[in-house]
Amino acid sequence: MVKKVSFIEAGYCKQFEKFVNPVSGKWRQIRFTSSVAIIEHAKEGVILFDTGYSPRFHEVTKYFPEKIYSYITPISIRPEETALEQLKVRGIQESDVRHVILSHFHADHVAGVSDFKTAKYVYSQQEYSYFQNLPRFTQVKHAFLKALLPQDFEERTKRMPEFTVAVPELGPPWRGADLFNDGSVILIPLQGHSIGHFGLFVRSENEECHFLLGDAAWLSTSFKENIMPSRLAQFIFYNRHDYQKTLESIHQVYLDQKENSKFKIIPCHCHQTLLENNVGVIK
Ligand SMILES: [Zn+2]
Repeated sequence: MVKKVSFIEAGYCKQFEKFVNPVSGKWRQIRFTSSVAIIEHAKEGVILFDTGYSPRFHEVTKYFPEKIYSYITPISIRPEETALEQLKVRGIQESDVRHVILSHFHADHVAGVSDFKTAKYVYSQQEYSYFQNLPRFTQVKHAFLKALLPQDFEERTKRMPEFTVAVPELGPPWRGADLFNDGSVILIPLQGHSIGHFGLFVRSENEECHFLLGDAAWLSTSFKENIMPSRLAQFIFYNRHDYQKTLESIHQVYLDQKENSKFKIIPCHCHQTLLENNVGVIK
């Protein structure tokens, strides 16, 4: 079972709040955090959900066409801010990390993946194949930078189970994939952002459960108020209609559990939410 869930920020970029939340956001720049969830499991060791940025992002975006990505999205990450380095500070070594779960393949979620040399990778094979088969320029357009992945990425794949189990906490329509067959880490399909995007429902032994959204909502206000990002921001989405449906479903989950606060709902990029959840954010 899961003993503990905690979060770190592994780099960030800046975005206009209005770009992310065109309804109640302001024309000011906000910190668009790349968070990593650290899930400590009694039998399966340490599991990461996404890996955030690493300085490797700068290396692989030095030249055209990848340079366009770093030009459009200037990021901030110091060597000591990577997930790997911050885990060490917490007494967790690289070899303790046995699974790295990737919500999707956008570079801000996978840039740190090569730091984990022995972990198994859990990801959507459909999404991986889709990106692999795109021309290089189109890959960049879709925020996929192949050079961020280690050489043996495919060999270390852990196959995802099917999305067949009910998730009573979320309600009847929701189905998930039970990663370890013990009900602790459930992969939840959250369609629209990318072709195989998914989140996690994590049941902990002695603390609150967590619903980790990845990029299905960028800020807490997005799912609390059911606000889609601006049209311009939607250019990265695989299917904006599916994204909207997913966001509406999460909004409903939020409304249904609001009074009792049965679990925490955590979007990946919301700096404010992570601060409220006592994240080890480096200033
Ligand atoms: Zn994304």
